[in-house]
Amino acid sequence: MTIMTTALHDPRSLSAPAFAAVRRGSRSDVALQRTLKNPIRCAGVGLHSGSRAEMVLKPAQVNAGIVFRRIEPTGRWVDIPASWQNVVDTRMCTRIGFTGGPSVALVEHLMAALAGSEIDNALIEIEGPEVPIMDGSSAPFMFLIECAGTVEQSAPRRALKILKEIEVGTSDGLVRLGPSATPTFSLDIDFDSPVIRRQQAEMKLVNGTFKSEISRARTFGFLHEFDQLRAAGLARGGSLDNAVVVTADGVMNEGGLRYDDELVRHKILDAVGDLYLAGGPLFGRFHGHRSGHRLHHAALVQLFADPSAWRWVEIPAVAAAVDGRFAATA
Ligand SMILES: [Zn+2]
Repeated sequence: MTIMTTALHDPRSLSAPAFAAVRRGSRSDVALQRTLKNPIRCAGVGLHSGSRAEMVLKPAQVNAGIVFRRIEPTGRWVDIPASWQNVVDTRMCTRIGFTGGPSVALVEHLMAALAGSEIDNALIEIEGPEVPIMDGSSAPFMFLIECAGTVEQSAPRRALKILKEIEVGTSDGLVRLGPSATPTFSLDIDFDSPVIRRQQAEMKLVNGTFKSEISRARTFGFLHEFDQLRAAGLARGGSLDNAVVVTADGVMNEGGLRYDDELVRHKILDAVGDLYLAGGPLFGRFHGHRSGHRLHHAALVQLFADPSAWRWVEIPAVAAAVDGRFAATA
């Protein structure tokens, strides 16, 4: 697994004078859309397929959104907008594409990094069926985006404002979306494991808290489930280099956990990534109880089905001073 941090030259990226011209014509009272300054390449293994994948993150035009360009070995390609409407599978990870056609799996950790880096527009070229798992978290993608640099664009950012509460699921697992002046993610997990049991956490997604509190949290799995996953054709690329492996009496990874409650933090990371498939940041409150990719997607389907439950809003340029500290109770 390698990360190549050399930014590639791309004539489509804005030159300094062009960018200045765009900025002069923009409004100063709203936050502006953002894209990458330069293309940047990375490569790694797919967690579930075990296939090697190469990926280039590239700048994209205003209002392009996040688009995955799946490139086939033949050189042919197809564009898949990163939208909840293109989700085709939510078992073990979130896969977007076209039913019976090309798809890209495990988009959520990269989507979370793009959300945490406030990137609105990017073209993700990928050779392979799955986004590389890297170290199992969003941190390597955050690093890539920082190396590429980011630029403001000429149009206002938009956020998805939640106007009323919606809920999907049952007492065994549910997602609730509701109004909030501050983007807030809370989640609890409850596993039948002496190592994890119940963990609960809440995070206000402001002032860089995603990077400092969430981005390094790795995906996880239980040792006893590993063989079942392999038999189902999943987790072929899984290893202690890219997942926390939980046993009956601890974690197998040398060095242990990155945070005491790394697992619930990773579940928040997943939720941030899955909810970014809405097409913009969430101005509202997300709460998940034992939730996963399926319920995250179901919540967006239900939300968008009710036009009175949401609307797109512009984001003020100067966000209110909010204490974004991570609050957790184990
Ligand atoms: Zn995950």
